[in-house]
Amino acid sequence: MPALDTTKKLQDYIELDKQLLWHPYTSMSHPTPHFLVKKAQGCVIELEDGRQLIDGMSSWWSVIHGYSHPYMNEKIQHQLSQFAHVMFGGFTHKPAIELAQKLVAMTPAPLQRVFFSDSGSVSVEVALKMAIQYWHSQGKPKKQFFATPKSGYHGDTFAAMSVCDPENGMHNLFTGALTQQFFVPPPPTGIEQSVSQAYLQEIRELFNEHHHTIAAFIIEPVVQNAGGMRFYNPEYLNHLRALCDEFDILLIFDEIATGFGRTGKTFATEHSQISPDIMCVGKALTGGYMTLAATITNDKVALGISDKGGVFMHGPTFMANPMACAAANASLELLQGYDIEGKIGQLEGWMRTALSPCQALDSVKEVRCFGGIGVVELHEPVNQHLIQPKFVELGVWVRPFGKLIYLMPPYIIEQQQIDTLGKAIYQIASEL
Ligand SMILES: *Cc1c(COP(=O)(O)O)cnc(C)c1O
Repeated sequence: MPALDTTKKLQDYIELDKQLLWHPYTSMSHPTPHFLVKKAQGCVIELEDGRQLIDGMSSWWSVIHGYSHPYMNEKIQHQLSQFAHVMFGGFTHKPAIELAQKLVAMTPAPLQRVFFSDSGSVSVEVALKMAIQYWHSQGKPKKQFFATPKSGYHGDTFAAMSVCDPENGMHNLFTGALTQQFFVPPPPTGIEQSVSQAYLQEIRELFNEHHHTIAAFIIEPVVQNAGGMRFYNPEYLNHLRALCDEFDILLIFDEIATGFGRTGKTFATEHSQISPDIMCVGKALTGGYMTLAATITNDKVALGISDKGGVFMHGPTFMANPMACAAANASLELLQGYDIEGKIGQLEGWMRTALSPCQALDSVKEVRCFGGIGVVELHEPVNQHLIQPKFVELGVWVRPFGKLIYLMPPYIIEQQQIDTLGKAIYQIASEL
């Protein structure tokens, strides 16, 4: 293996990358193009060749305050000067305790107990295990399965995959290896569409027939994200809460994408009147600095698991990593300084203005915006090999998937930058 040396030409690095590295959802033999990043500051990502890209993605929805934020950097450097990591078995530390305190204060009142893990997918695994263990200690060990709407996305690990959309998820590849869960149709789209009683009736019938084996219902509140960027009426959440209560089924909200302001409220749950039993958060939790997620639950579940001496059976090596907790504490402090509704409302307006011209294009099916999410849905899926370099040539970082070109920019982005992103999307969509 040739040693890396700093005099290597740019193209050599790109070649080595192709030989050595997997990237998300790519082929090793025909990888999509990848661009070498040199640095990032605010809403601008600079490539090694000097090109500067306006960031419309927040690095998969996580870098909400922008890159290289001075306050974030300072807080992480301070923690580094104390200690980078200690095991969470037998030890505890202020960064974790303070973060738990903040999360409990921010989330709906019944959510009081916090389990830290390394990534969103793992926080979902933890939530599912909590639900199963809860029913086990309540004397209902048959409740080991989950109900969920289609078009959901909950992560790439096995149990999380089992509750992802069965078609656009990875089910057909892993049919024999995945637990068969119960699927209902996705909530009908449209934030302001009136609630469909027929839809709720379908869920009622499923619960009525199978509640003996269903531990929990898991859903992304208000926005189904990677499964299709679908927005639905928050009122459904109130109805789901009532149905779950009636049939002794726990309710899990996956706020990994929607949490920390993205929908114009601190959590999407706040668009409803209820609280889930278990909530998963991740992605923006650390302001996109480090990998960290949390599963937050109420006393019913947390204390219920420990009835008859039970302990919760999960304990990652890097649980509550102090650097990640310090990053999260800094990020939440910055977030608390925002007027979230005002700021995200303004961002929504800017995106609406910038993206609505796309509505007139033949290739475009629909333009929709909600909070800090702007979506241009196409009639046909994009070719990532072709489209990604075009965006880079136009000086923006936008990464479409399937039929969706979308923006989820850092909250600090300026209107002029949103305009540039919108123009680039218009130009590329007009060439499709
Ligand atoms: C990204 C995401 C996950 C998975 O999180 P990872 O950190 O990628 O494991 C789970 N649920 C939702 C809603 C997500 O958006």
